[in-house]
Amino acid sequence: MRQLADRIDLIAPSPTLALDAKAKALKAAGQDVISFGIGEPDFNTPDHIREAAIKAIRDGFTRYTPADGILELKEAVCAKFRRDNRLGYQPGQVVISNGGKHTLYNIFLCLFQPGDEVIVPAPAWVSYEPMLHLVGARPVLVKTSPDNGYTLTPAELEAAITPQTRGLVINSPSNPTGMTYGAGRLKELAAVILRHDLWVVSDDIYEKLIYDDCQFANLPMIEPALYDRTVIAHGLSKTYAMTGWRVGFLAGPEKVARSVAKVQSQTTSNPCSISQKAAVAALNGPQETVGEMVKSFSRRRDLVLRLLADIPGVTCPKPQGAFYVFPDISAYFGKKSGEQVLKTSDDLAGYLLDKAGTAIVPGSGFGDDHTLRLSYAVSDEDIVRGLGRVKEALLALK
Ligand code: PMP
Ligand code: GLU
Repeated sequence: MRQLADRIDLIAPSPTLALDAKAKALKAAGQDVISFGIGEPDFNTPDHIREAAIKAIRDGFTRYTPADGILELKEAVCAKFRRDNRLGYQPGQVVISNGGKHTLYNIFLCLFQPGDEVIVPAPAWVSYEPMLHLVGARPVLVKTSPDNGYTLTPAELEAAITPQTRGLVINSPSNPTGMTYGAGRLKELAAVILRHDLWVVSDDIYEKLIYDDCQFANLPMIEPALYDRTVIAHGLSKTYAMTGWRVGFLAGPEKVARSVAKVQSQTTSNPCSISQKAAVAALNGPQETVGEMVKSFSRRRDLVLRLLADIPGVTCPKPQGAFYVFPDISAYFGKKSGEQVLKTSDDLAGYLLDKAGTAIVPGSGFGDDHTLRLSYAVSDEDIVRGLGRVKEALLALK
């Protein structure tokens, strides 16, 4: 008798979460492991947000809420889009879910089906491809080049489109490269998207984590004709250091939002009532802590880039957002650690975990085997210590 559904064999566990679990287990066993692995702010959730959650508990706000989220939070989301993006949404176009990941999965489930192809510019975040497999769609990873700032060009998009193409996922600032799409590139892509009548899933989760004088933009901000063809996936995990609270949200055409609400009502009911009250405080409350976090991340990005530049053979484009760097380490392929020849990003990351005590995600999970992904949501001290150890371990290879 078949034990499990075939779809389970289409995916592997999330490599970012798996590495984080491994690093935590090594630390618990007393090893000095510095984690550049998981993409998670190392700050606490700001006090006023935590207080709002405590108040929600004290007030007994502990029961089921509407499945697609409380009106107060949907209104706060609409206000955020008006304020930050000049995009007008009504609460009926918004759904609150259990984290950005859940939001994306719901969107894919409602938009795509077997036979559909969905274009994902690569390198790409580890979960798009497995989620698309789970809903039966075919992810089409289109490799982008560091020479184009790892952004998809209109020619690359055009070349990947077939009669089966139904959608495109855009993630800017990007996990894993930290690169962002500028207004000019988005305008060029919009022309192709409109010509082929595609859905856009815009993963804007790193919107606020953007550096220097770089300006955030997404497709419906740049091309209003795409408003009806775009679903924005967003969440509070990164902006407000709220990874554990599990709050994500979408905004898009009402028919998509209502479909997601229907699915959610049958599969999970509402997101956590207490987290929703905290999310209202996050979106409507003071935003200074976001600015402070961005300042720290920007400083750490510069520090990481300086230290990486000091390692012979390692090259790394300068990211404008998120909190990741994506250096090319392939100059070390073919070198030996004892008898083992290191041939892949997985080999290199495994070697660095063993010999340098640093947890770093191999680029393979993001669709690029020449690279490693480092999260710099790590203290300055650990960055200096960790990258010092990485350099020493790489130079020790024969
Ligand atoms: N999109 C991207 C690109 C991410 O890096 C993450 C981080 N996990 C998410 C979505 C989802 O975040 P969360 O589920 O924590 O809200
Ligand atoms: N997005 C973060 C990362 O890429 C968190 C882990 C995950 O969701 O994959 O590390």
